[in-house]
Amino acid sequence: MTPTIGLEIHAELKTRTKMFCDSLNDPTEKHPNVNVCPVCLGHPGTLPVPNKTAIEDVIKVGLAIGGRVNEVAKFDRKNYFYPDLPKGYQISQYDKPLIEGGTLNGVRVRRVHLEEDTATLAHGDGSASLVDYNRAGMPLMELVTEPDLHGAEDTTAFARELQLILRYLGVSDADMEKGQMRIEANVSWDMGTKVELKNINSFKAVHDAIEYELKRQKAALESGEKLTQETRGWDEVKQKTFSQRSKEEAHDYRYFPEPDIPPFETAGFEPERLHAALPELPAQKRVRFAREYGLNEKQTEILVSDLATANYFEAAMSELKEDFPDAGALLLYNYLTSDLRGLMNQEGVSFADLKVTPEHLAHLAGLLEEKKLTTRQAKDMLVTMLATGDDPEDIATSGNIGVASNEDEIGAVVLAIIAENKAAVDDYKKGKMASLQFLIGKAMAKLKGSAQPAMLKELFERHLRIS
Ligand code: MN
Repeated sequence: MTPTIGLEIHAELKTRTKMFCDSLNDPTEKHPNVNVCPVCLGHPGTLPVPNKTAIEDVIKVGLAIGGRVNEVAKFDRKNYFYPDLPKGYQISQYDKPLIEGGTLNGVRVRRVHLEEDTATLAHGDGSASLVDYNRAGMPLMELVTEPDLHGAEDTTAFARELQLILRYLGVSDADMEKGQMRIEANVSWDMGTKVELKNINSFKAVHDAIEYELKRQKAALESGEKLTQETRGWDEVKQKTFSQRSKEEAHDYRYFPEPDIPPFETAGFEPERLHAALPELPAQKRVRFAREYGLNEKQTEILVSDLATANYFEAAMSELKEDFPDAGALLLYNYLTSDLRGLMNQEGVSFADLKVTPEHLAHLAGLLEEKKLTTRQAKDMLVTMLATGDDPEDIATSGNIGVASNEDEIGAVVLAIIAENKAAVDDYKKGKMASLQFLIGKAMAKLKGSAQPAMLKELFERHLRIS
């Protein structure tokens, strides 16, 4: 038996205005029903005008996955009655979507189309439900795959790669936790009775729900039970899927062409121009980063999976290469992804409001490269750089920070530490190597981290041999 999984993924596009009117498309709006107008409220007599940017965005996504742009596309009405739909129908695309075909991660994409989002409902204490139409009419992209996926791993990998592409293209923030990207998975064994998993709002939940659902279906099939075609949700607390509604009551959407928007030729959106203007995509960046910077697969992925980090890294690398053509990428990579990002997380700073410029981080790496700073000093300096935005070269000069290089001075400290720590010295001479680290640590503390550990080690070894 083989698991077969197909996906329907919706993503909110981050255009300035909504899909068919000029109400603001602002997912951060906290006040209900402020970004509304007669068009997105579905008042009679109003006419929808398609958003050009939203159409271009979907074409870009289609081109990024090698899809075919339909020469003629059209909008259709998908009818169903629910209070989140002010018009009583959703404008979507039925038989002439913008994009057909394409592949991503080896998975065939059936189509990518454009539609409008629904309003959000707030179910209170049961006596009434409230409707917020801010989201009604926001541009929504829908991508449908063939049932080419076979488990939780490849499904989440596919969804993550799509999220990355949407972010690289700048068409959607695609944050699942914020509902900007919503994944529905059709799960079955051997293309048998299909169960649709819905309302799952994180990659982890998608992963866990699919694993659970495949096990549940397998157990049922093996015990001769008949599965029902249904929609199931994911219970985060119980870690179980649960039945939401059976497909028997599935709607007949009575699709028909949207009479207020005639079919249109996509040539007007200049697909060739959009294709030529596509940015470097994640798959291309992986190959180039590995080649150009000699980083391994894991390191490359850490950079590529976050565009802001990747861009920052490249900017800093090009600064570093100017002064140190032979400098490797690893030092800068480590200071960026572990030290700097660690501090940023700690302080709640994003790249957008980061005071440390790529140039300054390159200067810090340069000082390390020239052995003008010790690791300990560099880490302290990064804290200062984050707070002040000062250039590390200026901080080093004004603070008189640098590597102690006077061997006589350091030698005196080493001798003093040896004299003060008889027990550790005896232990070392009996073969306890940890004692040497202890002594080095003592000396480093006295020198306030300004000595190179290797130099200290060498001096200790020399003096301990003769003492
Ligand atoms: Mn849809």
